[in-house]
Amino acid sequence: MSGLRSVEEQLAHVLAAVRPTPPVRVPLRDAAGSTLHDALTAQVDIPVFDNSAMDGFAVRHAEVADAAPERPVHLTVVADLPAGTELDPDLEAGQAARIMTGSPVPASADAIVPFEDTAAGLADSLGEIAVLRAPQPAAHIRRRGADLRAGEEVIAAGTLLTPLQLSAAAAAGIAEAVVARRPRVAVVATGSELVPPGQPLRRGQIPESNSELLAGLVRDAGAAVVLRETVDDTDAAFLAVLAAAAEAGAEVVVTSGGVSEGAFEVVKNVLSGSDVAFTKVSMQPGKPQGFGRLADGALLFGLPGNPVSSAVSFEVFVRPALLRMQGRTRIHRPVLRLPAAIGWRTPPGRRQYLPAAIDQSDPARWTVRPATAGGSGSHLAGGLARAEAYAVVPAEVGEVAAGDPVDVMLVS
Ligand code: AMP
Ligand code: MG
Repeated sequence: MSGLRSVEEQLAHVLAAVRPTPPVRVPLRDAAGSTLHDALTAQVDIPVFDNSAMDGFAVRHAEVADAAPERPVHLTVVADLPAGTELDPDLEAGQAARIMTGSPVPASADAIVPFEDTAAGLADSLGEIAVLRAPQPAAHIRRRGADLRAGEEVIAAGTLLTPLQLSAAAAAGIAEAVVARRPRVAVVATGSELVPPGQPLRRGQIPESNSELLAGLVRDAGAAVVLRETVDDTDAAFLAVLAAAAEAGAEVVVTSGGVSEGAFEVVKNVLSGSDVAFTKVSMQPGKPQGFGRLADGALLFGLPGNPVSSAVSFEVFVRPALLRMQGRTRIHRPVLRLPAAIGWRTPPGRRQYLPAAIDQSDPARWTVRPATAGGSGSHLAGGLARAEAYAVVPAEVGEVAAGDPVDVMLVS
């Protein structure tokens, strides 16, 4: 539609304004949810040493190469190697060492015979054992460095550190990580009709929900909420909260409400004439968008107030910006193409972002449907409870029919 800026143009404009947060060194245990700034390099080999993959006996392979149930090979157990042992017994002809999973394999051994392949079993196996089956050469030995060698990269810069990554780093002997400092974000809900959830409502009032939404999404994006406030639609209140955000050190201010065409658009009114621009973007919901830099250098995102509009706007513009600030390699949500379970209408001439639920009951054929019974209304805040994705329908498509393939942006 003419006169509207495309989503891509607006996002490019946003990302061009983003500056990275500085790197900070943190202990591994405090690094979860942060983005790695410096690649991590293994300090030790994984495995650290040749070790046994089975509970059994370390042997010299040549001696047991012909073992069979009818030709047992008898060996004398000369050492016991539990986890953590420092022992490295020198096995001579006719000797074996009892060994537990993970224990270091003696340099003189070149195969492991599991207990199951001996006559004695685990219980009384510290004297003599009879090997009933020949192991393969090097059987059940996990080789030092087979997974990773000291000096090799464990995790690339720009990676989100989750428990999986952090456990790999710990296994590689790493104690600290240099990560991007979490962006400091202020969340400001505007609207004279808003009262905290749970409080009695007089006519005209509604529970305030966007600050819950936006603060949570900010944290999910790896950033820190340094201020969360709700203000009424007066210039004084909004100016005061901007001052408080600056005081709190906010690098990003995310506001909801007050950016469209009404008579009391406080965000738009207060910031008109500043470096924050108010733009119409070719999407539904989320057409009115404010974005720019405040006098103190913080970036301001002025999101529309309807709850679904705020949620979609955050996904499309704020989250990628927060991830880019942290140097995250992958700043976009995964998109899956799924058939629509039912049909729905789409807005003419604008890209639709429809809160959607995914039916996963058939693993071979997931389907997508609107999360709200009422369709695509941006005010349908209750439907967000069922949303786990956004169906993204191009501007040219006027209607989605059941079975049509739809792009689905996964958000949970
Ligand atoms: P606005 O963009 O300020 O015109 O708000 C649009 C609609 O969203 C209005 O119906 C508001 O009541 C609603 N709304 C705005 N902010 C919030 C909020 N923080 N929580 C819940 N609803 C909101
Ligand atoms: Mg408002």
